[in-house]
Amino acid sequence: MSRRVLIIGTDGLRPDNVDLNRMPTYSELIKRGTLFGSFQSAFPSETRVSMTTLTTGVLPGRHGVVSNLMVVPGFGDDGYLQTGDDGDLLAYSEAMLEPFILAPTLGDRLHSHGMKLAVAASSSPGASLLWNLKHPEQVINPSSTYGVEQLRQLHVELGEVSPEESHVKRERALWATRALVEVHLRSQRNQAMVLWLSEPDASQHDYGLGSPESLEALELIDACVAEVLRAIEREALTDELDLFLISDHGHSTIRAQGSLQEHVRIGCEELGLAKQFAAAGHYVYAAPDGAIEPSLQDTAALIAWLQAKPWCEQVYVSSPEYMDLPGVLPLEQLLGPIAHRRAPLFAIQPVWSHETNEYGVPGTTMALTSSTSLRASHGTNSPYDRHAFCLAVGNSFHQGVVSDIPSGIVDIAPTVCWLIGLQEEIGFDGRVLREALRD
Ligand SMILES: [Zn+2]
Repeated sequence: MSRRVLIIGTDGLRPDNVDLNRMPTYSELIKRGTLFGSFQSAFPSETRVSMTTLTTGVLPGRHGVVSNLMVVPGFGDDGYLQTGDDGDLLAYSEAMLEPFILAPTLGDRLHSHGMKLAVAASSSPGASLLWNLKHPEQVINPSSTYGVEQLRQLHVELGEVSPEESHVKRERALWATRALVEVHLRSQRNQAMVLWLSEPDASQHDYGLGSPESLEALELIDACVAEVLRAIEREALTDELDLFLISDHGHSTIRAQGSLQEHVRIGCEELGLAKQFAAAGHYVYAAPDGAIEPSLQDTAALIAWLQAKPWCEQVYVSSPEYMDLPGVLPLEQLLGPIAHRRAPLFAIQPVWSHETNEYGVPGTTMALTSSTSLRASHGTNSPYDRHAFCLAVGNSFHQGVVSDIPSGIVDIAPTVCWLIGLQEEIGFDGRVLREALRD
């Protein structure tokens, strides 16, 4: 029998935050599957970078989605591209004369074999679309119909998302779960499926790791998974379906505030440098207006200024010409070999610690963000941000096993292809997670 695969993603779920008392369904599934104990997100440990790595099975150095907010000279009015915005993603290839994702997605690979990847997601419309950018008609998201008539009709059938009544994004998660169960699961042509839930990420950002709201979010995702399992049983799909429960990254408590943009602005002022740099997230780029190309000397001065700050742990540089600067490491260590022109000049790794927060949850970062309302975030190379959750359950996998063999989200796409019979697929940076396979 040909196998089908369902990936259930829970955004920002930290493996050490899985609470078996609050999550009876996870507790039961862990007994029945293979748990990956050393599962890593991509770098930066941001949702859309991870989403693209999941669907391509290659690292950001090759797929080109290098951060949530990208600096792309020549794109739009200002050279900034917001990857959560489906409009930006759909406009990119025509505006820039290259595909937005520079490697085939799972959707592309399946499509070329007459199969389909179907997505139901409560994440941002952009994040959901990245899974299957060339086939938006296969992506159900409560916030967008991607200009597709067929999806507009589906939204009418599924009904509006009810207003949220608690702090947790419950109604969106339940809506996406219902879309998976009532639409995607029933079609045999959907050889691979994704259900992506934006919790516990949203609650952790807003209320903190271990907060009552984030614990409520854990109960919510467990209930959504239970709902999917009931549907699988009802539709008699248990034997043909393999399941991955994953997260895209971890989370850390924020211990300091102050955006890299602001730090870079102050640094340039103090050093007497012209406005030639732009910062986004943990990256510093040449300013996208391109008026002045930063010299090696100016870039070196800014890097040295940043390295002296107490919140700066490490600077990673993209170009070989910066490799002789004191104390820097190559960015390719984090992004993989860089095969495009979208990388920043350099990236900052802020200082992190094992310190616990008020709820007793360890892991803090001196986060570089201007958003003062955030209690926790992710994106850095800290182990608390990089360590993600992965459990494989189904007839293809060993039962009750914990594997500590290094693995990561880059391995999911090659493994999904293998499971559904596309074993000749090549061009991945990741590998098939053979240690979990029974045969
Ligand atoms: Zn995420």
